[in-house]
Amino acid sequence: MRKRICTLLLLLTLCLAHAVAEETRYAQVFDRSQDGGKLTIRFLWLGEQVADDKPGDCMILTSPEGKVMVLDAGHPAATQYVTDALDALGITKIDYLVASHPHIDHVGGFPTLMDRYEIGTLYTSALTYETSSYYRAYVEAAEGIEHVLLHDGDTLMFGEEVRIDVFNPPETIDYPKDYPNGATQFINNQSLALKFTYGESTVMLAGDLYSGAERSIVERWGDALDCDIMKANHHGSNTSSSSVWRNAVSPQITFITSDTIEDLSTAKKFTRDGQQMYHTLLDGCVRVSTPGDGTYDVLTEKDRPSTLF
Ligand SMILES: [Zn+2]
Repeated sequence: MRKRICTLLLLLTLCLAHAVAEETRYAQVFDRSQDGGKLTIRFLWLGEQVADDKPGDCMILTSPEGKVMVLDAGHPAATQYVTDALDALGITKIDYLVASHPHIDHVGGFPTLMDRYEIGTLYTSALTYETSSYYRAYVEAAEGIEHVLLHDGDTLMFGEEVRIDVFNPPETIDYPKDYPNGATQFINNQSLALKFTYGESTVMLAGDLYSGAERSIVERWGDALDCDIMKANHHGSNTSSSSVWRNAVSPQITFITSDTIEDLSTAKKFTRDGQQMYHTLLDGCVRVSTPGDGTYDVLTEKDRPSTLF
């Protein structure tokens, strides 16, 4: 009996130690004290899927001088993860709120963010999606907020030193007949494709592009797409990350934002030739930062339970 109690106590202690360690790592991932002079991106773990929807994407970026960008804000059911992260970072103002495309797992958290935080400017593409109540909710919540529509060929600055080049969608959105019926792929293919350049460091974030749009962007922009870091399009699914796209962007480090491993063989493509891959399912929230010299420092919330890749 005593032995059993001892074992139980030991197990409890180990569990507690593990929980404390993870909490500490979460706090480290969201510690901004070393962010000055760096471009930092935090890829958020947004929990598990709700009904048939993915929890989605949310990235919080900070510029070298401390401007804040939130690029997508996940499914409405995942909003707590986003507000917890923003609060852990001590953020009260979002200078740039960016929607890659108007699907629920990307803009679902927008009304809450607009309610809770001061918003500088909203950036989206021109794509409208009036039949979606979530789209209408965030457009309504955005009333009175400056709104900038982006398309390919645009450039803008994130703070004073980080340049953003926009490679998608095209200036004129050519809606299919019967839009938005059966238009999931079309909407994903209108995702903003954004390249961030800070000195020698480069990052590609391109929402949920499918391989068809990836190919046409590569045809239009070619070598300009080359980046050190990228987020795998469409949550690492095999709809995306075609070899044409991977060759054009040719990243050293890829980040996958998903609550599941959508496709193991696609995920493995990112670890070939010594390239690194991080996955929010395995790594939790992940922070990557660069002082602009082409080097990157990565901190994960969790240690990998196994080496799947
Ligand atoms: Zn998505």
